[in-house]
Amino acid sequence: MYTNIAAYCKTHHVNLVAVSKTKPISAIQELYAAGQRIFGENRVKEMTEKYNQLPKDIEWHLIGHLQKNKAKYIAPFVSMIHSIDSFELLEIVDLQAKINHRIIPVLLQFHIATEETKFGLSLPESMDLIQNYTIKSMEHIKICGVMGMASFTENLDLIRSEFHTLKNIFDTLKEKYFSDDLSFTEISMGMSGDFKIAIEEGSTMVRVGSAIFGKR
Ligand SMILES: *Cc1c(COP(=O)(O)O)cnc(C)c1O
Repeated sequence: MYTNIAAYCKTHHVNLVAVSKTKPISAIQELYAAGQRIFGENRVKEMTEKYNQLPKDIEWHLIGHLQKNKAKYIAPFVSMIHSIDSFELLEIVDLQAKINHRIIPVLLQFHIATEETKFGLSLPESMDLIQNYTIKSMEHIKICGVMGMASFTENLDLIRSEFHTLKNIFDTLKEKYFSDDLSFTEISMGMSGDFKIAIEEGSTMVRVGSAIFGKR
């Protein structure tokens, strides 16, 4: 299954984040041997433990909610944080990146699903955040794009329209704030059940777990 999905992403010029949460080291090693280098985790402790045990050319992406007091544990090594959902969190990541003499690439997470429970910003909230970010000129953060999760539903039209919304948010922010910024390029959307729809709607980065590793 991995080979097919990796080839599909490659053909469509989309980055594949292999979501390895809850999966053992051995499962990651198997994919690593097949050439995969980007892995996604949603818990700080689990990601840190795996980082310590695995080859150092793996790019670790934090895709789950990040608690402010835990940013320090991943700041030394994380390759991208997909889940920035407040200015306060951005400030803390900037500080921790500075302490580690790094620039950490991040994505702004948007609430695009109809469900109440998912984390994420609205478009106006993100505009406030970006304006504050510009004023404070954070030198240890790079905002590289947006991330979102569609509703947990079998209604494919709804999923597609939510991805379409995220693409529009990206285009709006790009035009208003990042038109000269060559790093603002990423739209992280699409999981095992919906990554093909996400790619049709403009995804540049899909986060696929169970379709690669099997059920959790
Ligand atoms: C678990 C998870 C995924 C992967 O989900 P699958 O359905 O297993 O592909 C993607 N994104 C986030 C934020 C996740 O927590």
